[in-house]
Amino acid sequence: MSQTNMPREFISVPMTVDVPYRFAAGKYLTRFLKELRDNGRFFGIKCPSCGRVQMPPRIVCAPCHVRNEEWVELGLEGTLVGFTVMYLPLTDPTTGKPHEPPFVYGAVVLDGADSSLSHLVNVEPDVEKIKVGMRMRVVLRPREERTGDLSDILYFEPAAGPVQD
Ligand SMILES: [Zn+2]
Repeated sequence: MSQTNMPREFISVPMTVDVPYRFAAGKYLTRFLKELRDNGRFFGIKCPSCGRVQMPPRIVCAPCHVRNEEWVELGLEGTLVGFTVMYLPLTDPTTGKPHEPPFVYGAVVLDGADSSLSHLVNVEPDVEKIKVGMRMRVVLRPREERTGDLSDILYFEPAAGPVQD
């Protein structure tokens, strides 16, 4: 069947899949997650060759193939570098709970980092009101509710400051 003959109606088949999964975070990600859980701080790791700061931290810089060992504290604010307005429900992989659409999911580069972190963005899901380059801040769960995974971040929300080019 050619693409032009593809049916225009697609049938949705609802199902619930329960797949408990656990993996060892390893030395670097464990340190990153403990700082997030215990102190509400973010750390990246700086490549000694190219200077790129990766967050979440990786033991090796992928482009340079060298070991990263310099930990760098990052800001709790950053810049939105991409986003999508979700019109389909998404099950949060860390909680198993669905997010009712529409909602915004975005990638933010925290101040001091060179890589982005993707998470929920607590803004009105209106593409006219969201701009790449917007300043964002991290909103964390209260300390006593944090568990040491990325769900310790509730969401990003707009912060004061000019849009970055
Ligand atoms: Zn590098």
